[in-house]
Amino acid sequence: MYELIPEPKTFHEAKRQTDRMDKAISMAAQGYTATRFATTDKAFYVDGGSDTYLVYLDPVHCSCPDFARHKDCCKHIFFCIQQVMDEASFEAWGGDDRAQEEGLK
Ligand SMILES: [Zn+2]
Repeated sequence: MYELIPEPKTFHEAKRQTDRMDKAISMAAQGYTATRFATTDKAFYVDGGSDTYLVYLDPVHCSCPDFARHKDCCKHIFFCIQQVMDEASFEAWGGDDRAQEEGLK
């Protein structure tokens, strides 16, 4: 998934992306949710902050003011990428069946 993120071209871009990634890590704990649209697995709406934003992952795009200003990955995009990566590792680990066997679900 991380290949979707544009390579930072300056130190400031790299720093900004790192900051957004750090913010995204705590978003679930803050009550944010990323929900897929039924029609595609590459579009989400992210809810939980002051507004609801529409996020596309391929190519990356977000409807928030931060993305409009900088045109690179905002915390909403990183939040959705994290969710996709979590799902992928859950599947690789055995998914629902394994979780049931282990009594985790
Ligand atoms: Zn955003």
